[in-house]
Amino acid sequence: MEQKTELTRNNVFSMRSMLMVIALVGAVTSGNLWLHQGNPPLGYSRYTGYGFSIDYSQLMTMRESDLGGQGPPTDSAGMVQWSRQDKELEQFGVIWIRLSSNVDVIPERVLDRFFLEMGLSGTRIGERGELKIMAKDVHEVVYQTFTVEESGISIPGMIGSWYCRASGKYLMLYAIHVPDIYHPEIISQEIETIWLRHLAALTCH
Ligand SMILES: [Zn+2]
Repeated sequence: MEQKTELTRNNVFSMRSMLMVIALVGAVTSGNLWLHQGNPPLGYSRYTGYGFSIDYSQLMTMRESDLGGQGPPTDSAGMVQWSRQDKELEQFGVIWIRLSSNVDVIPERVLDRFFLEMGLSGTRIGERGELKIMAKDVHEVVYQTFTVEESGISIPGMIGSWYCRASGKYLMLYAIHVPDIYHPEIISQEIETIWLRHLAALTCH
């Protein structure tokens, strides 16, 4: 398996944290990642596991981990992240958490918890935007914009959370985008579009 250790020539994005650490460790090799209904679009692969499936561009590198980014994911918690970086940097991920059913947790609190964990792991979260709600299938998705502050640069991101009763999990989908890492002051105008595209490509039950 090919391994790339040099993440970027630009140390502005020497990303340390759970959100930002990207080990570019080869491609999807497991044969059981394919759904048997329909086919992903040309140039896309389909990841299936842990209560969801999502189509992603084959140009992106995938990484599965636990929430700390170190160990393997489990059914009760974990994340899968996809990233692509040349001049442009795009990263998105799906995070799942199974909480005991007698705990009445609402998606807003799950987002709060996420940002708390981000902060503890060293990621500087800047502004969190207004919480909004949208429908996805039978789910109510609570979502908001946010920024990651890195070396004086504000990287825009978007994240949403919902509870999937069928899989018994809280799911989160986030995306961050930098149009030009050599001019990181250029703020992405596409983050919402990108996030919505990934959301549309995700099925959770
Ligand atoms: Zn669902």
